[in-house]
Amino acid sequence: MNKFEQLGLSESLLKAILDLGFENPSEVQEKAIPLLLEKDTDLVALAQTGTGKTAAFGFPVIQKIDADNRNTQALILSPTRELCLQITNELKNYSKYEKGINVVAVYGGASITEQARDIKRGAQIIVATPGRMQDMINRGLVNITQINYCILDEADEMLNMGFYDDIVNILSTTPDEKNTWLFSATMPAEVARIGKQFMTNPEEVTVGTKNSGSATVSHEFYLVNARDRYEALKRLADANPDIFSVVFCRTKRDTQAIAEKLIEDGYSAAALHGDLSQAQRDGVMKSFRGRQIQMLVATDVAARGIDVDNITHVVNYQLPDEIETYNHRSGRTGRAGRLGTSIVIVTKSELRKISSIERIIKQKFEEKTIPSGIEICEIQLLHLATKIKDTEVDHEIDNYLPAINDVLEGLTKEELIKKMVSVEFNRFINYYKKTRDISAQSGDRRERGDDRAPRENNNSGATRYFVNIGSRDNFDWMSLKDYLKETLDLGRDDVFKVDVKEGFSFFNTDPEHTDKVMEVLNNVQLEGRRINVEISKNDGGGRRDHNGRSSGGRSSAPRREGSFAPRREGGFRSDRNSAPREGGFRSERSSAPRREGGSSERPARRSESFGDAPRPRRPRRD
Ligand code: ADP
Ligand code: MG
Repeated sequence: MNKFEQLGLSESLLKAILDLGFENPSEVQEKAIPLLLEKDTDLVALAQTGTGKTAAFGFPVIQKIDADNRNTQALILSPTRELCLQITNELKNYSKYEKGINVVAVYGGASITEQARDIKRGAQIIVATPGRMQDMINRGLVNITQINYCILDEADEMLNMGFYDDIVNILSTTPDEKNTWLFSATMPAEVARIGKQFMTNPEEVTVGTKNSGSATVSHEFYLVNARDRYEALKRLADANPDIFSVVFCRTKRDTQAIAEKLIEDGYSAAALHGDLSQAQRDGVMKSFRGRQIQMLVATDVAARGIDVDNITHVVNYQLPDEIETYNHRSGRTGRAGRLGTSIVIVTKSELRKISSIERIIKQKFEEKTIPSGIEICEIQLLHLATKIKDTEVDHEIDNYLPAINDVLEGLTKEELIKKMVSVEFNRFINYYKKTRDISAQSGDRRERGDDRAPRENNNSGATRYFVNIGSRDNFDWMSLKDYLKETLDLGRDDVFKVDVKEGFSFFNTDPEHTDKVMEVLNNVQLEGRRINVEISKNDGGGRRDHNGRSSGGRSSAPRREGSFAPRREGGFRSDRNSAPREGGFRSERSSAPRREGGSSERPARRSESFGDAPRPRRPRRD
């Protein structure tokens, strides 16, 4: 018997759950579902985003309504159209083996008459945004005077968005005897007020600590000079070849401008903000979900309710004005038990805000340094090698092999590898050769000048390793550090500068441990796979961060004499997007006409390398 079966759910729901592939209930589900099934009660449930709240109310509400009665029995209010559609969709999935249940979504920007018609056909459950719901009530298009259940989903976000009056009005037209279930990530005063006003002796379910950030999100900040903000963003993207991120800006204008710059510089980016039409926003979200967009640049309002799993990074390009907003932003990653990183790019004058956020989220930030060009080059190179190794071969290619062999005849394996990798890599090395380091230093760190240990200025100080395990194996920098310490039987600070990428990672030790690392790790298996560790040519410096922890990643690798010329504009990335794609939101860089040579400030875009795609439509710019 799995744990879902112990919660008291009906056969048809259990069958649907099996189809969904949920193996065990999440904590909020485990706590809320039996409670809601067993009695008629009001409920306040506090849980971070990504913890499975939809099913926590969705399963019970489906089980509790009467499918033979066509009256509207449950109303679910949710902050955005996106979420509204998503919840509706989920509920339809949950109830697919339950005959006669109709779930109707009600939201702005679509035909109100059609929605009214759907409701008229009999909708036991309505999922609505508050604005449109109020509209429908005013026009007498909906009857919620007999509902038994009212669910406020993401109550804090709804109130943040200014829906207080609408919610109060809507709730006032519902019967007093109904049950109200309020779900929220945080409990600001307004949410508590709604609770007091509309609930009687609610049961309480709390998952994790109230108001604290999700434990699956780690927080990092990068200190830069204001003029380097954008360059820093690009480098962070380049240093994370598999980034799939939401980049938050403060204003619509900045959002649009940054997205445009990124696109121009060859990144797969798009803007999401309130000046776009609903259709444009839908298009952007579709491309984002489909992963044609790696960097979604968004305003806070537009990004509310973005509910996409697998977001690897949230980037605070600028910090929000309200600290509480930071929580909403970072909650976009680390969902469904996966690990995520919330990055803040700060200037010195904003540093104080970091401490305030730390107090609110009850988690410490790690101060990191923007990766140097050399570090980025190494990451990209290894990423490329890993990608080549992981690439599945389509045997269609066999037809061309004789011709290809002719062309490549006479090259040794070594030469061939070098050349193949250089196809991609030359652009990076050529670009980053000409850049300077851009990390600024916090006063904190400078005061503690001792942190800048001699070995940082001395390339031979620490040994840097490359190892073929990474986030794909469920490591983040902390857990990998622990794993290495344990496996190697090393002390607390002996492993440092652990930097985890998807398929591989880097770390440092002092040279005295090098032999041991090479010998022990190369003979260890991780879940049946042999670990491979190599000494990395880029020693990555050896500084530790201001908390005395090893700074889990990049540092300002010591400037190599003469090799960092003044910064140039533009950037580029490895080609992750060269497969043909539908939709029009990607950059053209992987398929644009070659710009090699020329006077371009940017490195040439790849067009001659693997996987050229037909030229896609230009990204939208409106
Ligand atoms: P929240 O509303 O708390 O932000 P969601 O209900 O949107 O979270 O769920 C987040 C993700 O987790 C969704 O992709 C959902 O399908 C998935 N999920 C929910 N419950 C489970 C479960 N018990 N097992 C596995 N995945 C789950
Ligand atoms: Mg939700």
